Amino acid sequence: MASHIVGYPRIGPKRELKFAQESFWDGKSTAEDLQKVAADLRASIWKQMADAGIKFIPSNTFSFYDQILDTTAMLGAVPPRYGWTGGEIGFDIFFSMARGNASQPAMEMTKWFDTNYHFIVPELGPETKFSYSSHKAVSEYKEAKALGIDTVPVLIGPVSYLLLSKPAKGVEKSFSLLSLLSQVLPVYKEVIAELKAAGASWIQFDEPTLILDLHSHQLQAFTEAYSELESSFSGLNVLIETYFADVPAEAYKTITSLNGISGFGFDLVRGTQTLDLIKSGFPSGKYLFAGVVDGRNIWANDLTSSLSTLEGLESIVGKDKLVVSTSCSLMHTAVDLVNETKLDSEIKSWLAFAAQKVVEVNALAKALSGAKDEAFFSSNAAAQASRKSSPRVNNEEVQKAAAGLKGSDHRRATNVSARLDAQQKNLNLPILPTTTIGSFPQTMDLRRIRREYKANKISEEEYVQAIREEISKVVKLQEELDIDVLVHGEPERNDMVEYFGEQLSGFAFTVNGWVQSYGSRCVKPPIIYGDVSRPKAMTVFWSSMAQSMTSRPMKGMLTGPVTILNWSFVRNDQPRFETCYQIALAIKKEVEDLEAAGIQVIQIDEAALREGLPLRKSEQAFYLDWAVHSFRITNCGVKDTTQIHTHMCYSNFNDIIHSIIDMDADVITIENSRSDEKLLSVFREGVKYGAGIGPGVYDIHSPRIPSTEEIADRINKMLAVLETNILWVNPDCGLKTRKYAEVKPALTNMVSAAKLLRKEL
Ligand code: GLN
Ligand code: ZN
Repeated sequence: MASHIVGYPRIGPKRELKFAQESFWDGKSTAEDLQKVAADLRASIWKQMADAGIKFIPSNTFSFYDQILDTTAMLGAVPPRYGWTGGEIGFDIFFSMARGNASQPAMEMTKWFDTNYHFIVPELGPETKFSYSSHKAVSEYKEAKALGIDTVPVLIGPVSYLLLSKPAKGVEKSFSLLSLLSQVLPVYKEVIAELKAAGASWIQFDEPTLILDLHSHQLQAFTEAYSELESSFSGLNVLIETYFADVPAEAYKTITSLNGISGFGFDLVRGTQTLDLIKSGFPSGKYLFAGVVDGRNIWANDLTSSLSTLEGLESIVGKDKLVVSTSCSLMHTAVDLVNETKLDSEIKSWLAFAAQKVVEVNALAKALSGAKDEAFFSSNAAAQASRKSSPRVNNEEVQKAAAGLKGSDHRRATNVSARLDAQQKNLNLPILPTTTIGSFPQTMDLRRIRREYKANKISEEEYVQAIREEISKVVKLQEELDIDVLVHGEPERNDMVEYFGEQLSGFAFTVNGWVQSYGSRCVKPPIIYGDVSRPKAMTVFWSSMAQSMTSRPMKGMLTGPVTILNWSFVRNDQPRFETCYQIALAIKKEVEDLEAAGIQVIQIDEAALREGLPLRKSEQAFYLDWAVHSFRITNCGVKDTTQIHTHMCYSNFNDIIHSIIDMDADVITIENSRSDEKLLSVFREGVKYGAGIGPGVYDIHSPRIPSTEEIADRINKMLAVLETNILWVNPDCGLKTRKYAEVKPALTNMVSAAKLLRKEL
């Protein structure tokens, strides 16, 4: 019985790749140094999988930035602005595309399906010339072979590559990216031939777009592509790998009818209906790569239950054709539990990171072949049982309260216009009120103070004093700038989710549980392992301190339940919505405590609401329904005079605008740095609805300081569509990554622009 891993994290157990990349980019180390770190990481990953007994070990899942960008390099599809003149693509051109260079900005980056990983979007057009320009897949295969390990080279499939691309600048939106298929396939043929010559016996093509709602002409492209490649496949085994969701019935039929393909990989963790498709028919003589070990989460597999799923599949596809696999690449989970020194042993026994998942895959394969490791299975069963019954997981009171929320509706009693009137009587704000999104620059000093406090190096009094001084500085600055609704600047928070997770029960934190987000950037999501409750107030102390320093309204600042959920590793023993409702109840208590403490404006950030949107349209309405409901639960009980803001940092709202309005916030601030026209429809809906709207008037992701005229111009454009009385003036996100030298002049100009326009209105 064989075992297979779809892909493995490249960052290293202690983010070794990140540090090597950043040191190279800073000019502190050489290209050879970076290559060496990378080669060592690859070698240790391959060895680890080989030692664990994995039969199909992937290669070419390593990347110096992103696997789609690697494919762009392989195909030689470098946008002309980077001045590439041909030849093998090196670090220079590669990192220019990824990160920009002195004269050119980087290529666009976007989210990889519904993960927190981001890929570099290929820019293609009728002018794009494809040529085989990066031999990385072949050299990695050879590198592993030289270590005595025969691997399965992984390529991003040609159809998914094109479907994930965008038309280059100046190319019409209507340009058919799939029309380039006949031009990319010759390059794929060269790569396949070279891999074959190097000794590869299997090649894996990742075609994750197969799980999307595709049109029939898009599905047709898969048939075309793989029929065209069929002749190159002779003497090779080919695996088509899918992940992240069920494969729709049509797509399933399309790929399983292909000739020349030896095996198909499916995500059986998230895709529960795919299992039914397999049961109702699987091509005979083909391999099924059954993704039963979850690559998206950190929980130990329920081996007994997986084994019974696999046994069922065995009877369909045949004993020698079933391969145990992961649901997707393990790059979406943390790397190695071994490095978690701070988690207690009980919680640790419930978890499996990438390194442990490799062992699980192999244990399942061995069990299927009759060599079950009884000790391993029974300790796994014991851990599953302890997790089910642990009092740390179960809090009956919370469960009851959350269960009572289902199916009910939670809404503020009055409509938004009436509420805004009531609020305005107290707040007395000018038209075009100014505010910021929450955080102010996080200086080195601030980070040091938080670190020292955490490490018990400074006392609580010293810590409170230092943070008080910082808040006072930020309050004074905002008063000097003449901003209308102030923030305390969030100096006590290192991260908008972690800060709350640390104070809520049911959360655990890792030391090294990093997951790549993009390039060298990694995130360390909290683990929600139990029922969530709020032992005590989390933000009232700092918010009321800040309010006491000024007579202007001070915004309370909270992270919303959906964002906390979407940026954490979530428990898999209950539906996501149940966990979300529990967090909502905890945040609701915080909202009520802030209100009772005299805070009149409360912002509840839902930065990640859209991120959680399911990939398949058929599942989106359900998600939006409970997500928006969760948000409303947090603030349905406040007085009319308490103003609820929410903030979201993405600009592509068009498809979910009705849900955003259904959140029923009084004021919505949104990112608007790059896409004014896309937001037009949002504005229009906002006008109808009556809520305050603050589309960011300048981009905080760039160090550039916008002039007063520029900002005024932007506001004027918004005023052309929006009623004056609902428009707010604010930057498009928090300021924590910026420097004061940028923030001060930018906010000065923002306030001047608002004042200038007030005079004209
Ligand atoms: N209040 C948060 C901040 O200003 C919001 C951050 C975000 O939207 N990502 O930092
Ligand atoms: Zn934001």
